[in-house]
Amino acid sequence: MNSKQKILKLLREEESGYVSGEYICQQLQVSRTAIWKSIESLRGDGYEIDARPRIGYRLLASPELLDPTEWFTSLQTQIIGQDVRYYRVTTSTNDVAKDLARQGTVEGIVVITEEQTKGKGRLGRTWQCLSQKGLCFSVVLFPRANPMEVPQFTMLAAVAVVKAISRTVSLNAQVKWPNDVYLNGKKICGILAEMVAEADRVKYVVLGIGLNVNQSQEELDNMIGYNATSLRVQLGQKLIRSRILIAILEELDELYNLWHRKGFLPFKQIWQESALWIGEMVQVTGLHNNWEGVMEGIDDNGALLIRLTDGTIKTFYSGEVSLRMIP
Ligand code: ATP
Repeated sequence: MNSKQKILKLLREEESGYVSGEYICQQLQVSRTAIWKSIESLRGDGYEIDARPRIGYRLLASPELLDPTEWFTSLQTQIIGQDVRYYRVTTSTNDVAKDLARQGTVEGIVVITEEQTKGKGRLGRTWQCLSQKGLCFSVVLFPRANPMEVPQFTMLAAVAVVKAISRTVSLNAQVKWPNDVYLNGKKICGILAEMVAEADRVKYVVLGIGLNVNQSQEELDNMIGYNATSLRVQLGQKLIRSRILIAILEELDELYNLWHRKGFLPFKQIWQESALWIGEMVQVTGLHNNWEGVMEGIDDNGALLIRLTDGTIKTFYSGEVSLRMIP
């Protein structure tokens, strides 16, 4: 424990009253000035601490943080979340997770942050994650898979998010091929899978998930200028993010185990049940071409099937295309 954590522990033990500065100094064996600096730093972290001359310090309110000490013991999983790395700020959880994977880490390790400064989306896009408002985390996987199967993990993660939202707040979210989750027609979650592979064997997959939880509509409009929503906007109330996080990790754990036992086939049905735009006119945009047609669903491997206007069915693999509905 560092000094800030030790001070917090002392304040929490005395939540109904004040803890004197002298007592904290004795316990930590540091100067009054050092205590004051730590208190200021805790305030900067979002803790509300009252300070009274000659009386001491009192903890009035704690920020809702994703620090694993607050939630780790409640997690019930076999693989996902065996270990956790937590950051107040980082560049991109996918980048940190890739470094860990390269060095050789435990499968299922979760890298989580309150704020990302270089959040990534597909195709060089960015993912915005306002401090302490959403969930931004990545999971390292070492699946027995070939590289062609990796997009399936994105779809599996999208289903895990849909199930977790349903389980925790009883809202019906939908998956949008290949990597997003929508709620009431607006984007609430983006997923980015990155991998390193040899010719026919995956070395590791990093699965990054960004979910909007406590952002207000104004915050979303200002940051994204996009058709985005959050659980708070949809529910009209703030949520404890760690509850949603635990649910996603547990759902992902179950689905990942199922994938290893049975492959992608059981997911085809589960995914299509909550998919956006099946049976509707959509546009698929690639680097050099656009296609229009009716979305038929996905094939046994998760590729997108579109019935083009000439009646032929075209298969799209997730790499370089984006899907839109034609209004
Ligand atoms: P598309 O929906 O166009 O296919 P994509 O799935 O390729 O996009 P992602 O990689 O999932 O895109 O996410 C990046 C895009 O998502 C950004 O270009 C931006 O438009 C949007 N975005 C970024 N941050 C958020 C957020 N917090 N909530 C909702 N949308 C966001």
